[in-house]
Amino acid sequence: RMQVKRVVLSSRPGNNGAPVPANFRLEETTLAPELKDGEVLVRTLYLSVDPYMRCRMNEDTGAEYLTPWQLCECVDGGGVGVVESSRSSVCAEGDVVTCFNWPWQTHAVMKGCVLQKVEPQLVDGHLSHFLGAVGITGLTALFGVREKGNITKGANQTMVVSGAAGACGSIAGQIGRLDGCVRVVGICGSDEKCRALVEDLGFSAAINYRHEDVPARLRECCPDGIDVYFDNVGGAISDTVITQMNSGSHVILCGQISQYNKDVPYPPPLSEEIQEALRSKNITRERFMVLHYMNKAEAALFELSQWVKSGQIKVLETVVNGIENMGDAFCSMMKGGNIGKQIIKVSE
Ligand code: NDP
Repeated sequence: RMQVKRVVLSSRPGNNGAPVPANFRLEETTLAPELKDGEVLVRTLYLSVDPYMRCRMNEDTGAEYLTPWQLCECVDGGGVGVVESSRSSVCAEGDVVTCFNWPWQTHAVMKGCVLQKVEPQLVDGHLSHFLGAVGITGLTALFGVREKGNITKGANQTMVVSGAAGACGSIAGQIGRLDGCVRVVGICGSDEKCRALVEDLGFSAAINYRHEDVPARLRECCPDGIDVYFDNVGGAISDTVITQMNSGSHVILCGQISQYNKDVPYPPPLSEEIQEALRSKNITRERFMVLHYMNKAEAALFELSQWVKSGQIKVLETVVNGIENMGDAFCSMMKGGNIGKQIIKVSE
């Protein structure tokens, strides 16, 4: 029998409350390494923490595609690891595999049919990128921009990104520029993040919403108004952006993280004033879900991989070591402790 560590949900934060590390608990357990037909023993390399997990902490997630995490049971989410032994035709010993429902556990026995084999050469060996820029995060940014952004090369468009220094936002802004926006302005929560956006990622400007006058700075940074808004946060920041958007412009409704610790439906309702602004300026704001476009994922992951390899997209990550820090890393990400994708490194 093999000793393993895992993380279980020990309590729920409540529908109205910020998650705390004590909502999670580390346990030691044993694993019977004999595999049944179709099973695979994997060693976890990297785990992901993501905003949608906040919904899984509630008894009722509020979304039909998300199941709640159960108390005292092993938590799961995006993960990448290496196959140590296999009785599945999907993968063989030594393969690198990923899955959206990877248990927060140092080793795990999983069904081969839930695993996807990935090619390490797509990410030049940076396997954590399969959870970020060359994984679901990159796909979210790319499909969001392409399916809902209506960017046209040569059209002199301005893009604004909220949550701009996070995993999706940092990639979305770079794609906006590559696809032809002449100006890309990020909104985020610290001066260090603002500096990274402008100096490392090539954003035209960045606004620290905690310390700056957002409406005034937006007017200054977007003299021709706003044509595309990649919205990760919702709430007051988004109301301000929408107020400055041009006629016939487009909101990419990616996420609304500023409302996730509140007991409101998704997407959270807009004020009458903002709804009227959308109507009168004929601004589109359709719900966007990355999972609706997975039939195009293979080609998109290849495109993302080429951009990262060529340096046209720069990848930022915040890496924490050790499965015992999963809860800390999740709560920190929810409060803005990350620059780029928050990753937890579980083993070498
Ligand atoms: P991030 O890496 O962006 O991490 C979350 C960030 O949100 C934090 O770093 C913090 O940055 C910011 N934040 C937290 N609270 C607030 C607040 N009250 N107001 C403003 N900003 C806040 O996470 P992801 O890139 O993984 O996710 C970004 C968004 O994309 C989320 O809304 C998520 O739900 C959504 N998403 C949607 C998908 C889809 O299919 N539609 C798929 C994947 C993600 P700061 O320091 O700037 O505050």
